[in-house]
Amino acid sequence: MASAFSHAVASLAIGRVTPLARDWRFWLIGAVGAAIPDLDALGYWAGVPYDSMWGHRGITHSFFFAALYSIVAILLFYRSGSIDFRTRTILFISFFASVSSHALLDACTTGGLGVDLFAPFHDQRYFLPWQVIRVSPISVTQFFSQWGLRVLASEFLWIWIPTIIVFVLAGIWDKLRDRQSI
Ligand SMILES: [Zn+2]
Repeated sequence: MASAFSHAVASLAIGRVTPLARDWRFWLIGAVGAAIPDLDALGYWAGVPYDSMWGHRGITHSFFFAALYSIVAILLFYRSGSIDFRTRTILFISFFASVSSHALLDACTTGGLGVDLFAPFHDQRYFLPWQVIRVSPISVTQFFSQWGLRVLASEFLWIWIPTIIVFVLAGIWDKLRDRQSI
């Protein structure tokens, strides 16, 4: 995993470029969705083998899980009469992108096993060609070590800075649009 905070930060960049950026539920569901795949670390502690589909970076890191999370979140938090089809579609794409960003960022890390992107249909672990983010330790004590610091530095470079750039560009874009509509 990259660390949970950085996954949530990545979801902010995704949320910022959608037209729904003013709804707090939207931010919360996106941020939680981006961190939630690592709940499978509980299975890791309980003895589930890492390389099984139910292990760490298994099914909760798949596109299937991302779609399931998005559908359930929309059904639970947005009443069917209250949003139109277009909004529902934007919500789905945004949540799906947030949860999938977790798996794709993990697939850019330098260690561990690859990510089971196509579970449960196709049980194989993948890395992307750009393995630039230092893998985060699963143990919390190790996280507050030299290793943890190096992980944070690399996540800052590859996740936080791009997110800040997205916010700055989106801010400029909003200003330009407001000026044009005056
Ligand atoms: Zn993960």
